[in-house]
Amino acid sequence: MAVSSLSSPLTHPLRRFSFHLSHLSKKPPVSSLFLCSAAKMSGHIHRVPALDEEEMASVAGKTFERYALPSSAKRNGKGVAILWFRNDLRVLDNEALYRAWSSSDTLLPVYCLDPRLFHTTHYFSFPKTGALRGAFLMECLADLRKNLIKRGVNLLIRSGKPEDILPSLAKDFGAHTVFGHKETCSEELQVERLVDQALKGVGNGTKLELIWGSTMYHKDDLPFDVLDLPDMYTQFRKSVEAKCRIRSSTRIPISLGPTPSVDNWGDVPTLGQLGIEPQEVTRGMRFVGGECAGVGRDLLKVYKETRNGMLGADYSTKFSPWLAFGCISPRFIYEEVRSFNPLSNVPKAHRSFHLCGKHLQVQRYERERVANNSTYWVLFELIWRDYFRFLSIKCGNSLFHLGGPRNVQGEWSQDKKLFESWRDGKTGYPIIDANMKELSTTGFMSNRGRQIVCSFLVRDMGLDWRMGAEWFETCLLDYDPCSNYGNWTYGAGVGNDPREDRYFSIPKQMHWRKKIQPESNSWAPPLIGGMRLGMFTARSVSCFQFRGRWFSNCCRPYLAYSVLDTQGRLKHKGEQCTRPGPRD
Ligand SMILES: Cc1cc2nc3c(=O)[nH]c(=O)nc-3n(C[C@H](O)[C@H](O)[C@H](O)COP(=O)(O)OP(=O)(O)OC[C@H]3O[C@@H](n4cnc5c(N)ncnc54)[C@H](O)[C@@H]3O)c2cc1C
Repeated sequence: MAVSSLSSPLTHPLRRFSFHLSHLSKKPPVSSLFLCSAAKMSGHIHRVPALDEEEMASVAGKTFERYALPSSAKRNGKGVAILWFRNDLRVLDNEALYRAWSSSDTLLPVYCLDPRLFHTTHYFSFPKTGALRGAFLMECLADLRKNLIKRGVNLLIRSGKPEDILPSLAKDFGAHTVFGHKETCSEELQVERLVDQALKGVGNGTKLELIWGSTMYHKDDLPFDVLDLPDMYTQFRKSVEAKCRIRSSTRIPISLGPTPSVDNWGDVPTLGQLGIEPQEVTRGMRFVGGECAGVGRDLLKVYKETRNGMLGADYSTKFSPWLAFGCISPRFIYEEVRSFNPLSNVPKAHRSFHLCGKHLQVQRYERERVANNSTYWVLFELIWRDYFRFLSIKCGNSLFHLGGPRNVQGEWSQDKKLFESWRDGKTGYPIIDANMKELSTTGFMSNRGRQIVCSFLVRDMGLDWRMGAEWFETCLLDYDPCSNYGNWTYGAGVGNDPREDRYFSIPKQMHWRKKIQPESNSWAPPLIGGMRLGMFTARSVSCFQFRGRWFSNCCRPYLAYSVLDTQGRLKHKGEQCTRPGPRD
């Protein structure tokens, strides 16, 4: 299926966000995650995080110092160890990095630009990595190299498959071990198997050691075998909250050197060299890749209040792109949340103030602030992330199959025109179009937006959910197979938990959103050119308005569409009975 060009000349500036403790103290609070971050705008673009290069470096520098291993810590290993960077592009809380350093006297960090990352998606042949995620990855690599150089090593960047590159390096440098982080999905597991086999083939005894490090709760600390993971998220959450401790993050020494002498460390490639046509962010949010940017991001304080916001920079944490590339770890976020004390720099005399009309004493504020709804809900969401990662081990490849983990049988359309109207934000439904345009323009979409467009594609259009999931795989900056396919199977009603089968009524959502976020319409101006859709059902009970009448989606759904030309004139009309919805 051809993928068309995705630029979106949209112009409306988004709201600014500001929250200040400045009346309490002139100094910013110590924790990097809690720095004031009124979104700075450049033209119509919000930079995320809202810090310039210098500010980011300063925040990161302080954070690295706070999380450093004391300089008295010594390594006791010998020889060369290779550190294979994968989706863990960070220095802080990187256990594989620590283990590689401590087990050797010389450390060689390597990143392989695997050509398979730039091929196409499995069923529908969309680009596997879209231009915005590709650019984000390159920024992550440049930032990682900078941070490693500051610690006396470097990052060797090679183009090719890890199973070819790593054994050849192991041989050339006589490495005793290749360390890396463990993944859970089949494509990544296959690479691990191939690397392991190829290292064995070298014949100098190099071992592959893979370490668990991507979740907040460690897999080995779960109160059950991961294959017995509860089918209900709530059960999982209650169980880990009651019975598990979150490990503290791994401290990394300030100096990691020496590193072997290497003739050519390799450049961070341009997108053109990877065969990707670059795409500029023309409006909305522009995420900056890399660990320094990740630790400079802060919106925890307003999280709960804005959790279900949509479109723009001013709600939810936006940690996901950095979490997906491993630029920050969930354990690091956890520690920052737990250690935050916003008043640590405030003189005693000023420790009494008004908040929401109430006069509060500092101690009470600290108590309420530290354990408030916002901080708890961030951890609650991170447990979702853990859950989907563990679920990918339990469910295996069924997560990618049409019937999902429960092997649900159904008829699904793969109508190209319908799909393209969804993909290009030309359905005529502003709430769908706005979200899809935000996705293709910025690489991001809110959680509620994702739920709504997923529900629309599956329940209202009756399309094969994998088309949507693969399009997300192409576009999302925060794409990760566990969270993406886990959420899509839930949204499509084929997930492991039959109760997670939620329908989002578009008229209801539109009505509500219009009231709270009128600027969302600026992403989806009235449609000229493209496709307009309407829903109706065999038995008409009111729900959707179509041709001036209300129709229901709780019976067998039909979809009517009209293709308009650029003057808004009708070119073609069609109707389609979508699959019987799970709610029929
Ligand atoms: C159809 C669909 C596809 C999705 N695909 C992805 C994906 O590929 N990668 C991804 O990271 N998230 C995915 N999500 C989950 C969620 O939408 C994003 O994690 C969230 O919107 C990221 O924004 P945030 O960092 O501001 O999140 P916040 O609301 O601030 O949450 C904090 C962190 O918790 C985690 N989190 C929150 N909600 C979820 C969730 N439902 N599932 C898993 N983790 C969660 C994320 O790591 C997030 O960064 C998907 C959701 C849906 C409905």
